[in-house]
Amino acid sequence: MKLVFATSNQNKANEIQSLIPDVIQILSLLDIQCNEEIPETQPTIERNASQKAFYVYEKYNKNCFADDTGLEVESLDGSPGVFSARYAGESRDANQNMDKVLQELELKENRKARFKTVISLVINGNEMQFEGVVNGVILSEKRGESGFGYDPIFLPDGYDLSFAQMDLLTKNKISHRAKAVNKLVEYLRTIV
Ligand code: IMP
Repeated sequence: MKLVFATSNQNKANEIQSLIPDVIQILSLLDIQCNEEIPETQPTIERNASQKAFYVYEKYNKNCFADDTGLEVESLDGSPGVFSARYAGESRDANQNMDKVLQELELKENRKARFKTVISLVINGNEMQFEGVVNGVILSEKRGESGFGYDPIFLPDGYDLSFAQMDLLTKNKISHRAKAVNKLVEYLRTIV
């Protein structure tokens, strides 16, 4: 069985391939010559993941899964959420995005936040979703150099290090994305 992962990042596709039985062959968007930008115009993380997976399924006639991730800050009513990548503007600048969150939290006591990844899997037109969440708090300043996005301001519950201070192996073990991927992989193993 062939399954498209709606990503142009071959490393991400290879990583998933290494976790699942070989009878499922993971293809990236590059493998199916999908070079256009896939629309992500929905108002929620769940619906964006869905939109991307169904786009590939319908346009390329291939079973597919797609992910979407956002940072949800409790006292900002779940923002930046689905707008995480472009919270401070279309330049999608991670530093500006973090500065905006830090500024908005300046006078707030509640700094609870979570990262959420949703994976939408579409097989023969039927959809299943898998969610991964990691809870934590937003620090009062950036800490650490590794990672990407909001990692320097996110302190996961139970740890003394921000995501950007952790080595990648540790982050990848506990992250929202890892949790969603593990659920997807568990499911895929049951259908082969
Ligand atoms: P995407 O859906 O994976 O493209 O993620 C959307 C946006 O959420 C990214 O542009 C980042 O700003 C943020 N984001 C997603 N995953 C992470 C993460 O693991 N750490 C920090 N920020 C993230």
